[in-house]
Amino acid sequence: MAGGGAAIGVLALQGDFAAHAAALERLDVAVREVRKPAELEGLDGLVIPGGESTALLILMGADFPPALRAFHAAGRPIYGTCAGLILLAREVLNPRQPSLGLIDVTVERNAYGRQKESFETSVDGRLGDEAVPFHGVFIRAPRIRRVGPGVTTLATRGGEPILARQGSVLVGTFHPELTGDLAVHRYFLRMVASPQSPALDPDGQTAIGAGGSPR
Ligand code: GLN
Repeated sequence: MAGGGAAIGVLALQGDFAAHAAALERLDVAVREVRKPAELEGLDGLVIPGGESTALLILMGADFPPALRAFHAAGRPIYGTCAGLILLAREVLNPRQPSLGLIDVTVERNAYGRQKESFETSVDGRLGDEAVPFHGVFIRAPRIRRVGPGVTTLATRGGEPILARQGSVLVGTFHPELTGDLAVHRYFLRMVASPQSPALDPDGQTAIGAGGSPR
């Protein structure tokens, strides 16, 4: 009963949205695929899946970015994996591209190089007070190169952040939806059940992006 009847959207423009929807359905939530900004209405949280961030940017068009900023400004949690993280980041490298700027991190796309484009590994994390070992699947994954002062790192690999949170925004470089391990989705549903103000991060600083992206 992790979800407690919440309605969670999965952005279904491109990428592995079906795997996220299947993971969430195992956690007692109503899952809705979101293909138009109006379909954000009435949702308690949103997952932005992995895929190809450049394609997602094009498919989002002009209408999704303001709708997603309004969703965030209303305090509704957003969880981005991989390409979803790239869209939510404040700054994107390799190459630079526009983003929503809803979490104060810098990400580098496709940052593991050709030999290690895709790999699976176990990683250590903490979700709240819990120590959680994850089995991480990384697919042409980005690396988080900088985390801002208001961002909490929840899991690391080789000392690098791979799962991070700022207020109501959760981002990860890997794909828990492909492993059958629902710990991160469960954690996201706890964020949905007890939302905090998106304008304030845990130490009271102003979050990025509530009033619009810098780019
Ligand atoms: N390489 C993709 C990008 O840069 C992300 C890959 C993924 O989402 N698995 O957008």
